Amino acid sequence: ELQETGEYITRDERWGAHNYHPLPVVIARGEGAWVTDVDGRRYLDFLSGYSALNFGHRHPALVRAAHEQLDRLTLTSRAFHNDQFGRFCEDLAQLTGTEMVLTMNTGAEAVESAIKVARKWAYEVKGVQTDAAEIIVATNNFHGRTTTIVSFSDDPVAHDNYGPFTPGFVTVPYGDAAAVEAAIGPNTAAVLMEPIQGEAGVIVPPSGFWASVRELCDEHNVLMIADEIQSGLARTGKLFALDHEGVRADLYTLGKALGGGIVPVSAVIGRADVLGVLKPGQHGSTFGGYPVACAVGRAVVGLLATGEFQRRATELGEHLHRRLAELEGKGVAAVRGRGLWAGVDIDPLAKTGREVSMLLRDRGVLCKETHERTLRIAPPLVIERDEIDHAIDALADALTA
Ligand code: PLP
Repeated sequence: ELQETGEYITRDERWGAHNYHPLPVVIARGEGAWVTDVDGRRYLDFLSGYSALNFGHRHPALVRAAHEQLDRLTLTSRAFHNDQFGRFCEDLAQLTGTEMVLTMNTGAEAVESAIKVARKWAYEVKGVQTDAAEIIVATNNFHGRTTTIVSFSDDPVAHDNYGPFTPGFVTVPYGDAAAVEAAIGPNTAAVLMEPIQGEAGVIVPPSGFWASVRELCDEHNVLMIADEIQSGLARTGKLFALDHEGVRADLYTLGKALGGGIVPVSAVIGRADVLGVLKPGQHGSTFGGYPVACAVGRAVVGLLATGEFQRRATELGEHLHRRLAELEGKGVAAVRGRGLWAGVDIDPLAKTGREVSMLLRDRGVLCKETHERTLRIAPPLVIERDEIDHAIDALADALTA
């Protein structure tokens, strides 16, 4: 085993809380689709920080924007205006065709904010009785780690022993429009779901599901909230995964790639009449919309506006899925996904997801299992076709090792 690597891991385990089980690799540098560890070994990044690194490591335009902002102004808090905030909100709203932007920092905070806004809207606009609002969510959801969000997680690892839990959530099977319809009542404020479920293993709902949810929401005056924190910002080949369905949400939550893998930036974006229920003092965050976040976020919007990353995700995604399909029956039980995003179920008779991740690491490719037997593949969108081939060859080899 590599000497430096072992020392770093020993220190991590001694001093860091054990809330993750990382692969034993210690990364010291990154550029584009590649990272280098403390012992000088290079790896192809096939995870992209769970889609936070859609533009690769240290994209020059994003690093430049961060540096320039660091040299001018870092933080004002929202007690004062700053010269980046409004421009970021305007650029993001115009890129996405939405009306208003609420800036936060992490994905979980964006989801929390969307929940708060939906409830407030239900009481103040829809006329739901005080404290009776309900939000419909899906089985196998993942929206973050706060106490309210884990209250409606059905994953025992995420949920158990964090009670008492926040009430007001109704769970229905993911992808089942009839179940959504049956769950809607006079107190329903919103439907909150991932357009494609990431942590659950890149689960794509049946086509037509989202169009049906949209119709139901319109019919019953219910907000449709799409959590695009992992699926959005070009990962699937379009700005939003929902765009593949030709459907618009009332609110979207964004995070991860919105900060370019440089700073934590998240947002709730959407209808001005809904976000408009927030009045001064009723919600906020010290760092939400701070100048560094907004400067990097504007550069991210600039990259997305070119359409290049959406195009790459579409074209390279077709190639990725073609190559993955060749592995079905050869250690792979099933493959799902869209664009440069795939959930690969490892044949349980062959290996566990963790074993395959380790064998891939040994072959210079970094990937991580989600749940026991699914590999989640999400390369940076700057990856080249031959690099995808290299990684899939490594996967084929790992499956038979
Ligand atoms: N929502 C979705 C769909 C996610 O995939 C994630 C993170 O994986 C989150 C929310 C939470 O984001 P964060 O880890 O930044 O709080």
